[in-house]
Amino acid sequence: MSLLTSAATKAIVAFGSNLGESERIIHAAMAGMQIFSDEPLLKSSLWQTTPVDCPPGSPLFLNAVIGFFPRPGETPETLLGKMQELERVFGRTPKKLHNEPRPLDLDLILFGKEVRSTVRLILPHPRAHERRFVLEPLNEIAPDLVLPGQSRSVAELLARLPAGESCRKI
Ligand code: ADP
Ligand code: MG
Repeated sequence: MSLLTSAATKAIVAFGSNLGESERIIHAAMAGMQIFSDEPLLKSSLWQTTPVDCPPGSPLFLNAVIGFFPRPGETPETLLGKMQELERVFGRTPKKLHNEPRPLDLDLILFGKEVRSTVRLILPHPRAHERRFVLEPLNEIAPDLVLPGQSRSVAELLARLPAGESCRKI
């Protein structure tokens, strides 16, 4: 598998699903995101993970990440808008409960060196560096990546995570 090592602007998107046919949904959503890039997307494996900070009884998640070089003219805001449209295509409805089960969650983890701190968009994603369900798949495609605001690479962050969150490659 090739890795995201080029200095060009790269985007990382995290996928999560714990409602419906999660494996099919994530594969289909990855295929849907191919239109955002001229090159083939870099795709992690799918990982089965225990819910973190979710309502009691929430189903297990499937998680994955992709990396790609956005097209010229794409911004974090335009990309997030397209990601949210894709969430709706896969049946996402406005949430009633914090972290309730969802067919598809698409989070923008990174967009080059861009930093944002608005209600609509926080970049890099504020919890990515401490979530095993992001770091395990990200370590497959970008182990040497240093997220803006972090001093350690993805591989180093992962190695230092406390045990706890269960995360199994499927
Ligand atoms: P969560 O991803 O925490 O489960 P949601 O998917 O419901 O929650 O997202 C809640 C809000 O988070 C969205 O309305 C979105 O505008 C905002 N948001 C802020 N930063 C990001 C980001 N980096 N990626 C995705 N959504 C973000
Ligand atoms: Mg989200």
